[in-house]
Amino acid sequence: MKVTENAVVVIDYTLKDNDGEVIDSSEGAGPLAFLHGAGNIIPGLEDALLGKEAGDEVQASIEPKDAYGERVEDMKQEVPKELFGGIDKIEVGMQFQSETDAGPVMVTVVEMGEEMITVDGNHPLAGVHLNFDVTVREVREASEEELEHGHVHGEGGHHH
Ligand code: ZN
Repeated sequence: MKVTENAVVVIDYTLKDNDGEVIDSSEGAGPLAFLHGAGNIIPGLEDALLGKEAGDEVQASIEPKDAYGERVEDMKQEVPKELFGGIDKIEVGMQFQSETDAGPVMVTVVEMGEEMITVDGNHPLAGVHLNFDVTVREVREASEEELEHGHVHGEGGHHH
């Protein structure tokens, strides 16, 4: 069958940025299974896979707006070091969950000062143009339970 809304799609993929650096890959981790149209993966990749079927190879070049969004500079802020009091060693690149008015946000430490630490609330892939090489392994109907849960069960999906 072809990929449609609410189909279960199983893919192998390699994701590269515009410099050809591999950002992520299913190699090693095993194929990824997602429920099409449920927001399990970025919208740009869902669009690129619509109408494809098992065995198809798809190359998709996705703008930030259809992936993790553009970078927003004012999501960067300096916070006093003592707020991280409970943590032994803080390094650039570490990620923390931070409570904000808009709910929990994942922030990344981008700069260490004497007394202040700069954190960035942008998604690490915000503003990055994503280039996917995808092989479609399987397309199947979702079960009632999968549709209800909004995700795929079994290999490459959720186990619970
Ligand atoms: Zn479930």
